[in-house]
Amino acid sequence: MPMQLRSDALKEKSKMYKLRSTLETLIPYTSETNPFPVTLNANEYPTDLPKEVKDVIIKKLTELNFNRYPLSDSSLRSKIAKEYGLQTENVFLGNGSSQILAALCYAFSDESSSIVYPTPSFSMYNIYAKLADRNGVGVELEEDFKFNPDKFLDVSKKENASLIILCNPNNPTGQVISNTDVEYIAKNSACPVILDEAYMEFYDESAIYLMSKYPNLAITRTFSKAYSLASARIGYILAAKEIITTLSKVLPPYNMNSLSLISAEVVWDMKDMFKERIAGIIAERGRVEKELEKINNFKIYPSQSNFILFKTKDRETTKLIFNKLKEKGIIVRDFSSHPLLNTCLRVTLGTKEENDLFITEISSF
Ligand SMILES: *Cc1c(COP(=O)(O)O)cnc(C)c1O
Repeated sequence: MPMQLRSDALKEKSKMYKLRSTLETLIPYTSETNPFPVTLNANEYPTDLPKEVKDVIIKKLTELNFNRYPLSDSSLRSKIAKEYGLQTENVFLGNGSSQILAALCYAFSDESSSIVYPTPSFSMYNIYAKLADRNGVGVELEEDFKFNPDKFLDVSKKENASLIILCNPNNPTGQVISNTDVEYIAKNSACPVILDEAYMEFYDESAIYLMSKYPNLAITRTFSKAYSLASARIGYILAAKEIITTLSKVLPPYNMNSLSLISAEVVWDMKDMFKERIAGIIAERGRVEKELEKINNFKIYPSQSNFILFKTKDRETTKLIFNKLKEKGIIVRDFSSHPLLNTCLRVTLGTKEENDLFITEISSF
């Protein structure tokens, strides 16, 4: 018989536990964990790594000494730096770019300042700000989720921003911020401006070139989306040394494990093999958008990413569609509980076959 730990006992004792009040109201992150036949809810790449890539990773893993603490991460960092014309010291790795974003919220804020980002955007920005016991401020996007740089700057000044986070292309809207606007924000802000380019491979207009002019501009990237490596949790930031030194203070030693480092370095070395796969997703994006546009009472937000956000007639319809798709084994992302997106669903682009199934089901609704 397995042991049953009584949670009410914990409650009694909790008088003794010193809990941070923030944590009492925070809801732990959950996502659909049941495997769905058609998984279109998490913006992952729809198929496994190319076999050639996976074979190299597995061969390298057989040569790893598992008893030792992790390998140095400088080999991968220097390769990434070289690609972007930076120094190794300007690249820092994290367990997913999520870990880096969370660490930035700890490192670059205090009681008197705020962390400012647009909304709707990646929901975790607000959660990381809360986790750091900081004031997270979401600046509402304009009609059709367009970014207004002047409004954004006004709020960030008023709220005394010590960290700004922008997402380009933006999740979940799929919309983009022009590099002119990114430059305007970086130029007129006296704090780090983090540009989350998690989906940049699907848009290809990175603002990395602006970093030499604006040392407060830093860029996060991930292996989890276009590079089909979500399982390994690996992302990175490109930033001035000063930002990276501060960031590294809030992370534990040996933060990156060897298994992920090896996997990511092989993917990086073989990244040319991913070009066609990425182009395939972009082609599917155009096709699925056109199909969705044929459906009555839908509004499609044109996307520059690997997902499409669309608006249905009303909240009831949103929920009905979500549940109907789910019954058919297709899971998408339901935003009906989000105040600014409560009539919206987001579908990640899958394989051609998966997208066909999705279109067939949603068209017959
Ligand atoms: C998926 C995602 C990330 C982070 O992914 P990691 O797997 O933690 O690297 C960051 N930002 C946005 C907007 C995302 O959608």
